[in-house]
Amino acid sequence: MAIVFNEIGYFKDPSPGSLPPDYQEFLLSLAGPTVIDISGQDTSRCRVITSLLHGNEPSGLIAIHRWLTSADKLVKPITNIRFILGSPEAASLAPLLSHRYLPGGKDLNRCFGSGKNSGYYLRANLIADAISQVSPEIVVDLHNTSGSGPAFAVCHGITANVLSLSSFFCETIILSAIRLGALLEQDFSCPTITVECGGCNDEFAHELAYEGICHILACETTRYFHQEREVEVVYQPHRLRLREDINLSYGGQNSGFHGVTLKADIEQYNFTGARKGEVLGWLDHNRLNNLQLTDEHGTDIIGEYFCVSGHRLLCAADMRIFMATTIKDIAINDCLFYVIKTGH
Ligand SMILES: [Zn+2]
Repeated sequence: MAIVFNEIGYFKDPSPGSLPPDYQEFLLSLAGPTVIDISGQDTSRCRVITSLLHGNEPSGLIAIHRWLTSADKLVKPITNIRFILGSPEAASLAPLLSHRYLPGGKDLNRCFGSGKNSGYYLRANLIADAISQVSPEIVVDLHNTSGSGPAFAVCHGITANVLSLSSFFCETIILSAIRLGALLEQDFSCPTITVECGGCNDEFAHELAYEGICHILACETTRYFHQEREVEVVYQPHRLRLREDINLSYGGQNSGFHGVTLKADIEQYNFTGARKGEVLGWLDHNRLNNLQLTDEHGTDIIGEYFCVSGHRLLCAADMRIFMATTIKDIAINDCLFYVIKTGH
């Protein structure tokens, strides 16, 4: 498939009947990145909701399509709304909604703010421009985690508005200092959050995205957002990654594989966290050298978090775990999971 990087499709106020009633058909009707503008009651203001930067994360697409084709649309949003869908080509590649990005392509959500202007970097720039253009009062970027887990938001700066915006979707927000080239890291001069709605295949994640969108559309002002529920702030988790060319397996016991073996049910720790002494997997003779974990200054902190006994990979502290996945490709290329110590 030839990818066109310098174009964005555009719809304005599409009527519910003009769109395919099924979200998969809707997705297949999109040729590339797409902006959908909806006129609000107050057309001097705009809110931006982006999704599908990752082609295998459907909750935002499903929720946006549901709103676009539903009777709820008869209620005009308070402000103008700009929906942006980032990677329909990757999402459309069979099997549908299974590719984070196209084979041989780049992860679009690692291409923002690069200073480069071709290929996927150009697409990221066009999306960032499409956001800045409307001087949004908020930006929400909807994602799913690869593995199953509760929803959480991510931000790069905590303000009252960021907290209340997050409370429309979830009860946890991660304050991140990690710079990866994500949309979230760009400065749109307004509260900007990513919402990880839950797992790609979790029905509750699609529902949560939809409820959150409806809430944003119906909310009078971003200045006096009320907080829907308590939101817990989690400070600066770290990315646990494999070192280069290390083999990854999943299993229920030490099978003597090279490299790292994670427990097959590693995703459960997204819900429960892990206690000091908990076994998360098994390591070969290279022990902790198979893994890398650094803090925001680049200091190696693997020993603060993990230890080895026999070949078992053990938690050296109580910790929260986010985004653990058994999708090997993502675990290898992105990270095994995010961790942060809890208590002392
Ligand atoms: Zn994502």
